[in-house]
Amino acid sequence: MTTSSACHVDVAILGGGASGALVAAHLLDRVDGAPSVALVEPRAVLARGAAYSTARGEHLLNVRAGGMSAFNADPTHFVAWLQRQRAHADAGAAALASRFMPRREYGAYLEALLESAPGAARLQRVAAMAAGITPVAAGYRIRLADGGHVDARMVVLAIGNLAAPLPLPLAGADALGVGQVVEAWDYEAVAAIDGDADVCIVGAGLSMVDALLTLHAGDHRGRITALSRNGLLPLAHAVAAPAAGDWTALLPLGVRGRLRALRDWARHEAAAGRPWQGVLDALRPHVQALWTAWPEAEQRRFLRHAVRQWDIHRHRIAPEAAAVVASLAAEGRFVLHAGRARALEVGPRPRILYRRREDGSDAVIDADVVVNATGMEKRITRARSPLLQDLLAQGLARPGPHGIGIDTGVDGALFDRDGRPLPGLWTLGALRAGSLWESIAMPELRGQALQVADAVHARLATPSR
Ligand SMILES: Cc1cc2nc3c(=O)[nH]c(=O)nc-3n(C[C@H](O)[C@H](O)[C@H](O)COP(=O)(O)OP(=O)(O)OC[C@H]3O[C@@H](n4cnc5c(N)ncnc54)[C@H](O)[C@@H]3O)c2cc1C
Repeated sequence: MTTSSACHVDVAILGGGASGALVAAHLLDRVDGAPSVALVEPRAVLARGAAYSTARGEHLLNVRAGGMSAFNADPTHFVAWLQRQRAHADAGAAALASRFMPRREYGAYLEALLESAPGAARLQRVAAMAAGITPVAAGYRIRLADGGHVDARMVVLAIGNLAAPLPLPLAGADALGVGQVVEAWDYEAVAAIDGDADVCIVGAGLSMVDALLTLHAGDHRGRITALSRNGLLPLAHAVAAPAAGDWTALLPLGVRGRLRALRDWARHEAAAGRPWQGVLDALRPHVQALWTAWPEAEQRRFLRHAVRQWDIHRHRIAPEAAAVVASLAAEGRFVLHAGRARALEVGPRPRILYRRREDGSDAVIDADVVVNATGMEKRITRARSPLLQDLLAQGLARPGPHGIGIDTGVDGALFDRDGRPLPGLWTLGALRAGSLWESIAMPELRGQALQVADAVHARLATPSR
């Protein structure tokens, strides 16, 4: 059911991407006794969010299908769903599990999951942006950007990946021409870039790769450059089993000690003919434990000195995507510059002014179109979210460690400005990255979604609280 302006429910989930949809599916997993749930999401389609709303076939998951089940308790769930789709009817489970599927298929999977939840009839769809939350006697009133409101006993904040703005002062922004600056997560706008346009992509992470793949799929003829501070590109996955080794030996070590130990471990693997990627895969389930074992000062050292190296090794891309990037670079059709962007000058052709990493000299890239591929904004005070700014201003939330995300308890309960957990208000996913570091991908989201749903159920069972 779609509601536009006002409703009253047991639980309001703000954000209907993967996280919000998973929480809703858990809450609606029974016909009798399911709570009434409102899913507040401005996008036309549920369960997609920033990652899975792309309709482009070249945008692949960066995890093999075998690792993308929505449920920890049923690791083959996504692959079994794929096998039920006509397009994959002839494919074996093992072959499907090893593939990097198009992200649009994953979005369809999550959407189907939500629609088929036994209690789905108790879901109210609110097609709006949440703009603020006010505590009221019976719970919370959620103010909507369209002027309406939702009253709920409990609230789950599932607003996920907030896009980072270009890290540049826009000189003459008023004069910006239509289509001169395009957001990488606006997948169709990237696809609509003129084939002869010179394109400068700011950022060199996974969103840059998305944009590059789309330009390549459209046989782009113009010059493509990217600019990133470090000049590093995401690395590729390899066929590797998680390496054998004792990750707990890393726990007492600081940043330098851990990096040294990881390099030694990777060298040991290489000497035995095994790819280094297996070391990262062995660590992957323990990243939260490794992060939380560090005192804040050591976490800060990691953020200052090692984060980009970590990111390119941890957030890897499908080998087929890496092959396209490498061949475009080898042919000179894609050039990556290393430097810090300083300004975007607007004119008939926008110009990016930047400072070269290698020698600190000033340089310029001019292009017809600038693509903002700077990814997600981790620093909460800079996030362009009226809802979050409202929560911070009211003291209903406070920044998480290092200013990343918001501060939460172990079950995702929001901490107010004095560090007290707020009753009946939880979050999950990217907003917990300061506390947990590894908190944006499916292996963490599926566990957190169940955890939040359990907390909601427990509170529903104790009406006096
Ligand atoms: C390009 C990209 C590719 C990725 N690929 C993978 C992958 O292959 N595998 C993997 O495990 N992870 C991947 N990820 C990680 C990804 O973060 C998660 O898998 C997952 O999509 C996160 O879902 P989410 O619901 O937490 O956040 P989001 O997907 O960001 O969804 C949040 C939703 O909240 C809505 N929203 C925001 N503010 C409000 C508001 N105020 N009121 C109401 N609604 C609001 C937004 O419209 C959005 O739909 C990728 C991420 C990106 C960005």
